[in-house]
Amino acid sequence: MSVYNPADPHGFKRRGVLFVLSSPSGAGKSTIARKLLAAETELHMSVSYTTRPMRPGEVDGVDYHFVDLERFREMVANHEFLEWAHVFDHRYGTPKSQVWSELGKGRDILFDIDWQGAQQLHQLAGGDIVRIFILPPSMEILRERLERRATDSMAVIDARMARAANEVSHWDGYDYVLVNDDVEECFACVKTILAAERLKRSRQTGIIGFIRKLLR
Ligand code: 5GP
Repeated sequence: MSVYNPADPHGFKRRGVLFVLSSPSGAGKSTIARKLLAAETELHMSVSYTTRPMRPGEVDGVDYHFVDLERFREMVANHEFLEWAHVFDHRYGTPKSQVWSELGKGRDILFDIDWQGAQQLHQLAGGDIVRIFILPPSMEILRERLERRATDSMAVIDARMARAANEVSHWDGYDYVLVNDDVEECFACVKTILAAERLKRSRQTGIIGFIRKLLR
């Protein structure tokens, strides 16, 4: 009897998925990313570089690679980023490292990046990328969530709220749009999308051998 492995449907070799989650900050994207990584052992997180200060509880090299502006600029000049953007007066960038070779090996990579990053990655990766945008149920709930998080000052929260409306206006640059009014339901939707995307014909590069055998 076969044991179903969602990362390897039917056991055929396949191309990996660049799985992008974006949302205004506080809409629950980080929680969903964490749950997804815990549930999907074959999914690997792309750890971005940032010039923003570390928040309490964050770990260098796990949540982000924290670097100063000089180092970030050096990496830009050396073409070490797949994409990078200014977000909230700081810089954030996705390192190239092994993204392309991981994809070819059928490994899926999760990106927690903003709409600018999603747009740039889409231009680079086309059909390999799946973009999901997560919306809060309302702007009031978004503010409550940011205040409850208590990691940012009031001034930063105000600035994040002002940016949230701008971010939401880019919802149409995504393949899927979800409303996170229940984190478990939203998470279940995200998992379903990943499972379906893995089964797409264009990613099932190894199925051709099976088809040939079927038709023999
Ligand atoms: P935070 O400072 O709350 O961790 O992240 C702020 C925003 O920057 C989030 O919307 C997050 O998705 C985005 N972000 C994090 N890393 C990257 C990156 O490498 N590139 C881009 N474009 N955005 C990023």
